[in-house]
Amino acid sequence: MVPLLDLKLQYNTLKSDIDAALLRVAASQACILGPEVDALERACEQYLGVRHAIGLSSGTDALLLAYMALNIGPGDEVIVPTFSFFATAGCVSRVGARPVFVDVDPVTMNIDPAAVERAITPRTKAIVPVHLFGQSADMDALMAISLRTGIPIIEDAAQAIGTQWRDGRRVGSIGLMGCFSFYPTKNLGAFGDAGLITTNDDELAVRLKQLRNHGMEPRYYHAFVGGNFRIDAIQAAVLCVKLPHLESWHAARRANAATYEKLFIEAGVSSAPGVTEFTSSELVLLPASVNATAEAPNHHIFNQYTIRVQNRDAVRKQLAERGIGTEIYYPVPFHRQQCFAELGYTDASFPISNALADTVLSVPIFPELTSAQIDEVVTAVCEIVRG
Ligand SMILES: *Cc1c(COP(=O)(O)O)cnc(C)c1O
Repeated sequence: MVPLLDLKLQYNTLKSDIDAALLRVAASQACILGPEVDALERACEQYLGVRHAIGLSSGTDALLLAYMALNIGPGDEVIVPTFSFFATAGCVSRVGARPVFVDVDPVTMNIDPAAVERAITPRTKAIVPVHLFGQSADMDALMAISLRTGIPIIEDAAQAIGTQWRDGRRVGSIGLMGCFSFYPTKNLGAFGDAGLITTNDDELAVRLKQLRNHGMEPRYYHAFVGGNFRIDAIQAAVLCVKLPHLESWHAARRANAATYEKLFIEAGVSSAPGVTEFTSSELVLLPASVNATAEAPNHHIFNQYTIRVQNRDAVRKQLAERGIGTEIYYPVPFHRQQCFAELGYTDASFPISNALADTVLSVPIFPELTSAQIDEVVTAVCEIVRG
């Protein structure tokens, strides 16, 4: 038995501190924003190395708020990778703009800067790299495009809180804004929905805070329309307990990834990343992981450990029969989603994302996983794939 994730293990190690924080909020009855949220925001500013961190209701709302803050709307375009979680693109449609899909890099599975370049038009209002699975997109190439064109970068760092780019900066602090999620399965998870938006721009921060609360400033005066994107104190209190442990959890995930890589290689599986054609000689492709991180040890925080296998759906089913939990992030790229059919995209423009959608399989990587469990997963994958 190897579950994909077991949140109870983490809770049990922090139980007394978390329970005390929950009771503190209960006693205070300061339920929304307030001192717990201020404490979380200051701690996140310090950890992420940003001037402003603003607590929000979810990662989805962070993206929505980022688009609203830039007045993105009808007639505008926002460039996003077609291979990501739905919110990255869904929020573009929600503000009335057009999401423009581009393909991803086969090694990192992150947005391809050359494809971004080709997708830019006079209507492009933002570029949204997603640091998928906890690995940074190519921020040097993207920031160069942003500098040259003046188009802002909004980082979808929902899966990558703490990931460092090559120069040591944390993702979410590099573009104009960074969007984070504290959904319970993320590396830093709350006890429900919560999120964060970051920026180094002082004026933008004022606007984001105002938008978070119906555009209200002062009380009951609204110069522009915002929404209720506030974070609950109870989530902030839990997150403040967890944040000091985040680096050790990242380290445990990286160690687990290194163990996977070692065991898969010992089992004779290819570790060559970035193979665009999934030939029959490649049984299992591992993520570009441990070796690639040599120069910046935090380059990947492994929110997911995503391998690529042939006959993925059958492999997944057999793993489930052996009690091994897996998930497919993500089976349907945006250009294949029914809700985006009217945008008129065809499969031919997205060969890498299509190949990934058909082959990716995320296996257990949570910090408390044991080496014996990793061995069980590797053995099972190899036996199943080899028949
Ligand atoms: C989780 C996630 C989101 C949305 O965050 P929620 O807090 O669930 O709303 C957005 N983008 C990506 C890439 C995510 O993984």
